[in-house]
Amino acid sequence: MTTKRTTQRLDRYERRYRALANQLATIGYIAQGSLASRFTRCGKPTCACQADPPRLHGPYWHWSTKVNGKTVNRRLSAPEAQCHVA
Ligand SMILES: [Zn+2]
Repeated sequence: MTTKRTTQRLDRYERRYRALANQLATIGYIAQGSLASRFTRCGKPTCACQADPPRLHGPYWHWSTKVNGKTVNRRLSAPEAQCHVA
């Protein structure tokens, strides 16, 4: 009979699903926070970012989250940011 075998397989899938769901819950906690892109000006007076109209540098990605009640900001490199956005 296939019914019993199917039930066993479903059992196995359900256990696998639970294990993956637990992993996702952990990842979700670690990745909490918000991602924002910012354009900035540097200090160089001759730079295009000081021109009129200004050509600002960026976008730079900032990731902020709360650690023990404190807001922590971290600037991400472009590949890091892309990885988080995708
Ligand atoms: Zn500049």
